[in-house]
Amino acid sequence: MDATAVKHDRGKMCVDENECKGCGLCMEACPPKVIAMSDHLNHYGYKTAEYCGEGCTGCGICFMVCPEPGAITVMRLKAKAAAAVSGSGLEGANA
Ligand code: SF4
Ligand code: SF4
Repeated sequence: MDATAVKHDRGKMCVDENECKGCGLCMEACPPKVIAMSDHLNHYGYKTAEYCGEGCTGCGICFMVCPEPGAITVMRLKAKAAAAVSGSGLEGANA
């Protein structure tokens, strides 16, 4: 397989910066390591996690390990639409 082949997202992860406390558990737990800590401080003064923008598999592990209810939402992309990564390809797997 071509090492430069583009990997399409199978999921979309979002962080509500006002709920995140910057513990970093999601970063540690994410298998493809596509979550990073931003330099931005939220209104509590915490740095917040953010999606790097590419490579999410939609596994939901970040949601499961996050101690803050509502901080993380994971949407799984429908297989047919995954290549297109269009908004209409999202199916609700709200975490
Ligand atoms: S859903 Fe899985 S792959 Fe996507 S950001 Fe969360 S832990 Fe990482
Ligand atoms: S696990 Fe939750 S609270 Fe901790 S950094 Fe990730 S989003 Fe923020």
